[in-house]
Amino acid sequence: MPTNVFLQQLITDPGRLTNLADKAKETAFEHGLIMRTRETPNSSEVVTYIPFTLFPSPVPKADLLQAVAVHTHFNMLVDRVSQDPDFLEEALGSTIQADDFTAKLFDIYRQVQKEGQIQSIVVGLNRSDYMLDMETNTKTCTLKQVEINTIAAAGFGVTDSLPKVHRSILRSVGLVKESECVQDSFKTPQMCAALAKAWELYGEQNAVILFLVEDVQLSKLCHRYLEKELWDRNVPVIRRTFDEVSRHGSLDGDKRLFIHSKEVAVVYYRYGYMPDHYNQQRWAVRLMMEQSLAVKCPNISTHLVGTKKVQQVLSRPGALERFFPNQPGAVEQIRAVFAGLYTLDMGPEGDRAVDMALENPHNYVLKAQREGGGNNIFGEDIVRVLQEVKRDQRRAAYILMDRIRPKTVPNILLEKGLPLTLASVCYEIGVHGAYVRHRGQMVLNETVGVILRTKSIEHDDSGVCNGMSVFDTPLII
Ligand code: ADP
Ligand code: MG
Ligand code: MG
Repeated sequence: MPTNVFLQQLITDPGRLTNLADKAKETAFEHGLIMRTRETPNSSEVVTYIPFTLFPSPVPKADLLQAVAVHTHFNMLVDRVSQDPDFLEEALGSTIQADDFTAKLFDIYRQVQKEGQIQSIVVGLNRSDYMLDMETNTKTCTLKQVEINTIAAAGFGVTDSLPKVHRSILRSVGLVKESECVQDSFKTPQMCAALAKAWELYGEQNAVILFLVEDVQLSKLCHRYLEKELWDRNVPVIRRTFDEVSRHGSLDGDKRLFIHSKEVAVVYYRYGYMPDHYNQQRWAVRLMMEQSLAVKCPNISTHLVGTKKVQQVLSRPGALERFFPNQPGAVEQIRAVFAGLYTLDMGPEGDRAVDMALENPHNYVLKAQREGGGNNIFGEDIVRVLQEVKRDQRRAAYILMDRIRPKTVPNILLEKGLPLTLASVCYEIGVHGAYVRHRGQMVLNETVGVILRTKSIEHDDSGVCNGMSVFDTPLII
């Protein structure tokens, strides 16, 4: 029986539904799918289960395979763009006139460029997100990329065992065949192997990997999972906030980064991707870390490659060919997943995009250079914002994107405090990737695994941290 038919029956029997939801939550605890609570995000005394769907969402195999297959090309693309200063200057030139946050990141980039990159090791841990776009008038869907995250990409760690939980729920209600369509996806070992490889190449046994973390540490237990994986490989890890690095961090004469007396081999940013993560002192800390010999995950140029503006510029004719001059196959695979993306820079092209958006705002998403969910502009709000900025340079802070219309399916979202209701939901497929470059050579380039993040269609935007989405796994159909 398809899970949606089962769900329709289940919702008519509240007692059975509550029992099954409780069982799912208990199974989540059993497999360590835990997090701190939003009410007490800095306490290790109170935990709850991570938000997740009661059932896994059905995903067509062909689309999933397509997303997985293209990913090593995306790793390569991100890495090549990050090494192309002319491209980055050109791509972000107008954005940094209009957006102070990107400008500040770019200042650090220019400073580091001017002084010369002293570290030839680069490690990237990223996640490319997709939705299946329902084509109008047909039943077919096409895989479209929403964005690629190059900094603090989450969705591995404690969630690695979610497929086990989903299989167990399906089996417990007799959906055995369906349970066989849910595959394991242990991502943490491979993601951490890339960090460990960078640490090893740095070549200092006593040096540590520094997790640069937030002040409000809701995700700490998830990070612990990664830390354990690294300690098990004899790679020492420390966790510090910007303010702690500001107080205790310094560079020596060779630009080695030290925290107290510990040398840092790798800085792994799990924070630092939003304007409110910074103040003047923290910007100085970011600059110091970028100037240091430590390997950065990501370095400042790779961080910039993850901006929505770079994504838009890469969709222009000829842009991908610049980075894959002799690989038409890679260009084709990447281009196939791009949705329509439009510049809002001053000029006739930007004017046309403004007119298009004002005429049919519901067909587009207006995106600022922000991360973490909750920052995009949809529907009539697009008209309001564009009316205000359309005549001047301020509009270059945004890009415009075709709105993807994902297929909706019924499911029940489990989250502490949420009532059990049957919701119309849509999922986003996230593909994790890892790579390491050393002296100009890719020494590791991998597609690591898949996670779904699912939200009620009531929300335009999404995000697990802000409570709009929950974790999910694909049930392959
Ligand atoms: P962020 O870096 O903040 O996660 P995203 O580009 O991923 O930015 O957008 C956040 C959310 O907004 C997505 O997870 C998705 O739910 C929604 N979204 C973004 N782009 C589109 C689009 N083109 N069509 C439909 N929904 C979109
Ligand atoms: Mg993002
Ligand atoms: Mg996103």
